[in-house]
Amino acid sequence: MLHVGVNGYGTIGKRVADAVRAQPDMAVAGVAKTSPNFEARVATDRGYALHAPEDRHGAFADAGFDLAGSVADLVRRSDVVVDATPSGVGARNRPIYERHDTPALFQGGEDADVAEVSFTARASYEDARGADYVRVVSCNTTGLARLFAPLSEAYGIDRVRVTLVRRGGDPGQTDRGPINDIVPDPASVPSHHGPDLRTVLPDLEVETMGLKVPTTLMHTHAVNVTLGSAPDVEAVRDRFESETRLFVLPADLGVDGAGKLKDLAMDAGRPRGDCWENCIWGESLTVEGRELYLFQAIHQEADVVPENVDALRAVADMADREESMARTERALGLDGQLGQGTPEPERATPAIADGGNGDD
Ligand code: NAD
Repeated sequence: MLHVGVNGYGTIGKRVADAVRAQPDMAVAGVAKTSPNFEARVATDRGYALHAPEDRHGAFADAGFDLAGSVADLVRRSDVVVDATPSGVGARNRPIYERHDTPALFQGGEDADVAEVSFTARASYEDARGADYVRVVSCNTTGLARLFAPLSEAYGIDRVRVTLVRRGGDPGQTDRGPINDIVPDPASVPSHHGPDLRTVLPDLEVETMGLKVPTTLMHTHAVNVTLGSAPDVEAVRDRFESETRLFVLPADLGVDGAGKLKDLAMDAGRPRGDCWENCIWGESLTVEGRELYLFQAIHQEADVVPENVDALRAVADMADREESMARTERALGLDGQLGQGTPEPERATPAIADGGNGDD
């Protein structure tokens, strides 16, 4: 059983903690936060041992929390730590992990040099096996690597161009924007996503441009790939459908945007309405000669969650890539693709037997 500490229990950390708890070969050693806010309540309600930096213990005590210890205590209790603190804080935390000789995962907000390996399960699992420090790349980079790793294996890739239409902030980020604008971000080309993608797919010829828009739901990527050969569009569709973390949205679901996609995930009973897969619009899949075009949606809060679980198994050398991905997906329920039926809601009382009027 791998004991995992989660340092930073915010948007990513709380999801990773729940995903780790769902795994048969992992347990949550505890979580750490700096603010005694609602997420600290969620952590204690879910039975996670709550930790905080020592200089924050007074604030947690004033808010009525019983802490299990400091961040150093959490690191001592953990076989591996997932650092999900805000961008830049992870790099400052690395010396704590080094002092305790504890391997750690960092997130995509950190520079690549925070760790020896940048990670997505599909593109760089083997490089991370047995490594001490691994960076799980950002939500956008994860979504792009999942797409290009299988394309590159099947057809070769000459060149990729992606325009990333990025959400302005997460739903809880009241200080982010734009509120009413469409902002090239950055206005210079390329955006950082192309170079970041090369930390996991080093040979990829890729150019990326980014925009920020007023939504909190998801990112959308407009993708054009020049492939090495000219496949049939149905062959590309089959290839994507064989990848567990790519979901080709059937046109007949009538999902016309990220809003309905979130609804679909919520109706499917996904925790927090999370879409762990890339969602590719089936109608957008177009092949003209060697040019492939598509749109995909990336749920920024969710796609890196299964990747963190796999990165833990890679660091602890607990399984090979295929076994780890399958175990992660079984435990999360990711193996039942979105759109293949939704669970019946649980009934509080038995169903009305014959004769009931059923209208109340
Ligand atoms: P968040 O702000 O939602 O959560 C951060 C957590 O860290 C909070 O619980 C906070 O209490 C805690 N924390 C610990 N030390 C802290 C400190 N010194 N200062 C402030 N808070 C501290 O952040 P997030 O969105 O979960 O992002 C975490 C990491 O994941 C970042 O590297 C980010 O770039 C990356 N990431 C975020 C997203 C996303 O869409 N939110 C997607 C992929 C990757």
